[in-house]
Amino acid sequence: MKIFDVIIAGGGLAGLATAAQLVEKNKNLKVLVYEANQIGGGASGVPAGMVNPATGQRARMVWNAEACFRMLEKRLEQLSGISNTILRLQNGVLRPAVDENLAKNFKQSLKNTRWPKGWIEWLDSDQVRKLMPHLKESSGGIFISKGKVVRTPDYLEAYTRYLKDAGVTFLFGGPYSLENNGGWTLKNRKDAFIAPKLVLTAGYKTKESKYWSDLPLNSVKGQLAIYHCDEKIRQLPAVSAYGYIAPVDDHQLAVGSTYEHHFHDENPDVQGAGQLDQKLREMIPDLYPKCQRIGQWSGIRATTPDRLPVAGEHYEKKGLYIYAGLGSKGLLYSEFIASLLATHITEKKDLPYEISLYRFSRMEELRDKAREDGDTSDQD
Ligand SMILES: Cc1cc2nc3c(=O)[nH]c(=O)nc-3n(C[C@H](O)[C@H](O)[C@H](O)COP(=O)(O)OP(=O)(O)OC[C@H]3O[C@@H](n4cnc5c(N)ncnc54)[C@H](O)[C@@H]3O)c2cc1C
Repeated sequence: MKIFDVIIAGGGLAGLATAAQLVEKNKNLKVLVYEANQIGGGASGVPAGMVNPATGQRARMVWNAEACFRMLEKRLEQLSGISNTILRLQNGVLRPAVDENLAKNFKQSLKNTRWPKGWIEWLDSDQVRKLMPHLKESSGGIFISKGKVVRTPDYLEAYTRYLKDAGVTFLFGGPYSLENNGGWTLKNRKDAFIAPKLVLTAGYKTKESKYWSDLPLNSVKGQLAIYHCDEKIRQLPAVSAYGYIAPVDDHQLAVGSTYEHHFHDENPDVQGAGQLDQKLREMIPDLYPKCQRIGQWSGIRATTPDRLPVAGEHYEKKGLYIYAGLGSKGLLYSEFIASLLATHITEKKDLPYEISLYRFSRMEELRDKAREDGDTSDQD
């Protein structure tokens, strides 16, 4: 039996960020990351992720954008120092207004939102063409200089190395059972690990835990393709328009993503490839003939009804925490929310209501019921 202070089940963006924030708050904490498959084995394995604070048709500023950016950038800076490869491309994000309606929405966002100085600007159609000559005709667009592309597998690799150096233990291996007997015991075929606190960061698989089956998490499959371009494209901004087109290095371009609410399996398929080819052909017609699809990837995002992540302690089982629902903004949200969760775990500081369990009325009902019934212990 091996004893830890906190066990984190799931080695994606949420799990690694939680481990880091915990040990950085208290370097004496013994933390285990238990990953069922491999680091980045879930949605976080996306080959290239875009970081864009102005999302949706109305280019709304994401929740706590400044704090999210500050924390992500700090982590990128730190991990870049220990990585042998480039972790991010900082060419900004261009959101072309593909029609007049979108142009109107974008201009309104600039007018009505208090964007931090220097983050975002309106470009007319000539300026858009100058920035991205290959792009199809637009009605102007917004350029988000803060936006960037992260090479996620390299980021996770550097992150894992950093955490190991900071004393975090990593363990890999298939199925396990969870027992709640005062603390939490995680047993796999070979071993047992015990801790007073356990954080489940299993992405869309979180719903498979009986403790969290009431959580309103949806699974949305996404596919992404990588293209080799004969032309050098590394200097280009990422383009966000019904998905994204992002340079990954000198000659590779990532095109994402599909949003599949109903799917039969988790693998990439020909329909996905067709959609992504079409996206590239439509958005960057001049570049398309010089590009060849060389890879395809798929993953499942966990999303919530209000599109904000969810974090906190179980309404009934003390010491059991969750952090999930990062949707399509895992890079931007993971570090900031992990820091809030780590403070909640170590100092019992309340989490903001917007990301708490209790914003979902069903969870509030369950908490009230648990209070009436008293606590119980059981096994998974
Ligand atoms: C096609 C696509 C494109 C995307 N593009 C972007 C983007 O441009 N920008 C962006 O910010 N985000 C993007 N995302 C979303 C981002 O990838 C997710 O928000 C993020 O990865 C979720 O991280 P997570 O740690 O919550 O979950 P996951 O990454 O799914 O991690 C869960 C981990 O838990 C493991 N696991 C599962 N069950 C268990 C268990 N029972 N016990 C232990 N471990 C378990 C899994 O193997 C996995 O490693 C994209 C997603 C997809 C699918």
